[in-house]
Amino acid sequence: MKEFELIKRFFSEQAIKRKDVVLGIGDDCAIVTPSERQNIAITTDTLVAGVHFPHETSARAIGHKSIAVNLSDLAAMGAEPSWISLAITMPEIDEDWVKEFCAGVFELCEYYNVQLIGGDTTQGPLSITVTAQGLIPINKHLTRSGAKAGDWVYVTGEIGDAALALKYIFKEVDVAAEYRESVQRSLDFPTPRILAGQALRGYASAAIDLSDGIISDLGHICSASKVGANIVLDDLPISNALRDSVDVEDAFEMALVGGDDYELLFTVSEDNKVGMETALANTGNTITCIGQINRSEKITTTLNSKPVAINAKSFEHFSAGKG
Ligand code: ADP
Ligand code: MG
Repeated sequence: MKEFELIKRFFSEQAIKRKDVVLGIGDDCAIVTPSERQNIAITTDTLVAGVHFPHETSARAIGHKSIAVNLSDLAAMGAEPSWISLAITMPEIDEDWVKEFCAGVFELCEYYNVQLIGGDTTQGPLSITVTAQGLIPINKHLTRSGAKAGDWVYVTGEIGDAALALKYIFKEVDVAAEYRESVQRSLDFPTPRILAGQALRGYASAAIDLSDGIISDLGHICSASKVGANIVLDDLPISNALRDSVDVEDAFEMALVGGDDYELLFTVSEDNKVGMETALANTGNTITCIGQINRSEKITTTLNSKPVAINAKSFEHFSAGKG
């Protein structure tokens, strides 16, 4: 099977349902119609085999994840995803693999009404680059730079399971049989918090999605906003799977520096707290307050109201070179 047959058979399988897509896959460019009332948010993320996912990851999971990590960036800005393009480099044409990969891609696209409008297909070591675009009412986007001293720090969902899954795959920890499936799912099939991101418009003072762990990503909010933060370790939303698999310090470490969670981390002022909680409850997302912004320009952690030091070495080990 040649490259163009592959594109025709698998990548152009999705019917065009969006009215704002004038031309999808098949010409030299895709054509879409922007609206005067909305801004367009654009983001790109690359996943490289062996770097961003283990080589043994299933094709379906790779398809899902390459879309999910990009939609997660759109969620962090409060955007509604609309169009994606997909550049894939693969070592050989394996039809069964591509079919499963596309199933993972289209599952998420259909759910969020996102159209695959183009891409590129080349041969080489497995790597996937997705560009995702989304729509935001003018001036309603969220940024990293608006956090103020006194704002509360929240996260959606539970944190640390994806890091646990990686440690299990590399045989660094054991996970009880009853938890293995859910832990593996959080690494392979992260859920982009699209509705939560949109619900945060007008309430959150700053937002980011958690790709590199709380310390690193909250660090981005703090430096963009020129503030600091304290995290209350007692309040971190850690799953039962993580709690039961490792001792408590390791659980905190995975939650703080593990990465790959794709939950949203955001800040909200005392005045906007109740409005935000109501808006988020309507989206069905669970949220947890994990700390507070302050003027210190650094990130600290407390346990039982006492300061504890963050293990900076393990932070570097986890985040080095992933990009
Ligand atoms: P060109 O050489 O003009 O760039 P290609 O043969 O690479 O054209 O692509 C033909 C069409 O198929 C284009 O519309 C392109 O956007 C689309 N396409 C190629 N690869 C993919 C892919 N992996 N996913 C989605 N669309 C793709
Ligand atoms: Mg091309």
